[in-house]
Amino acid sequence: MATSLPAGAQIGIIGGGQLGRLTALEARRLGYRTCVLDPDPRSPGAQVADERVVGSLEDADAVRALARRVQVLTYEFENIHAGAAEVAEALVPMHPSSSVLRIAQHRVREKEALARLGFPVPRFAALGARDELGGALGRLGFPLVMKTAVAGYDGRGQAVVRGPEEAERAFESLHDRSDTLILEEFVDFAMELSVICARGVDGQVACFPVVENRHRNAILDVTLAPAEVPAAVSSRARQMAAGIAEALGVVGLLAVEMFLTRQGQLIVNELAPRPHNSGHYTLDACCVSQFEQLVRAVCRLPLGATDACGPAAMANLLGDLWPEGGQPDFAGALAVPGVRLYLYGKAQARPGRKMGHLTCVADSTSAALARVLEARSRLERPATR
Ligand code: AMP
Repeated sequence: MATSLPAGAQIGIIGGGQLGRLTALEARRLGYRTCVLDPDPRSPGAQVADERVVGSLEDADAVRALARRVQVLTYEFENIHAGAAEVAEALVPMHPSSSVLRIAQHRVREKEALARLGFPVPRFAALGARDELGGALGRLGFPLVMKTAVAGYDGRGQAVVRGPEEAERAFESLHDRSDTLILEEFVDFAMELSVICARGVDGQVACFPVVENRHRNAILDVTLAPAEVPAAVSSRARQMAAGIAEALGVVGLLAVEMFLTRQGQLIVNELAPRPHNSGHYTLDACCVSQFEQLVRAVCRLPLGATDACGPAAMANLLGDLWPEGGQPDFAGALAVPGVRLYLYGKAQARPGRKMGHLTCVADSTSAALARVLEARSRLERPATR
């Protein structure tokens, strides 16, 4: 194992959202300092970091300024200018590397890389121009999902397409956001799964349990850990995630989102080379959380055990729960036994914006889910205290 970074060393985090915030908190617990780059000086990450650089993630000078202040870099968001990431990486090690980032930040490159490496992906076609649409529709058939190749997240930048006219309309609305679009066959899945895999500089790999993710309006709503799937499916899912992390040479975290089809086949949907919303439950349910694991990997410490101490569930809290000019009933939610609350410190609640989450560890995933849902429903009542 290469020499680990000493306590007191500073980790640079590109992006100051909730993933950066939770990483910074775990880094601090391990004795490291953090410096967060974000355009908002009061971003969730900036609030808890030791230092901050205020600037755009697109700005090579801002990324360079961050790199000069830290011993190692990581990121919590893929939409970083690839050139800026390369500039930073020339100054200080960045994990995962800019080559992993380049693949994961572009849906066409990602699907092409996975297919080349022999991992199963939905049938897809890249679309650069409108006159390519007819040919792609002919090859793929319907229904389809059309997505922007870049800058899409939380269901933004995608549309389900059931016929040629819908395809024309979707192309019209999506193509100004991204030069390249991707068309994918619509996978009739039985369940959505994800696996978060950590890999150290020495190649040590550790996968967290396979979890089930349920979405609402294409935004993650709840995670159930572990997913209730046959042991063979869960071991295949973990092997696949570890195989992808190894093949891409990831150091840090790689979250692999997969579809489990009704025939029991696993198909990779998306990669995220960073902490993932579906891994928030690890803060309460696993020996080492995904955030601590990231810190360990980038600081060249041994990876921790990923075993869960019990079944768990996580429910996201979106801005929709915030009453106009007020706050949800947090005390009411926290009265549900076993439920823990994480708030990200975002000043403005907007519909669809991730403001926090709830977790619970219980005797079964269904009991844990029932508790986080009960707590979330209590949040919907206006606070009276
Ligand atoms: P993504 O941003 O690619 O993770 O997509 C967000 C959500 O849209 C996924 O979690 C799925 O619920 C749904 N989705 C995306 N791609 C497909 C697909 N090819 N087939 C069916 N559903 C999809």
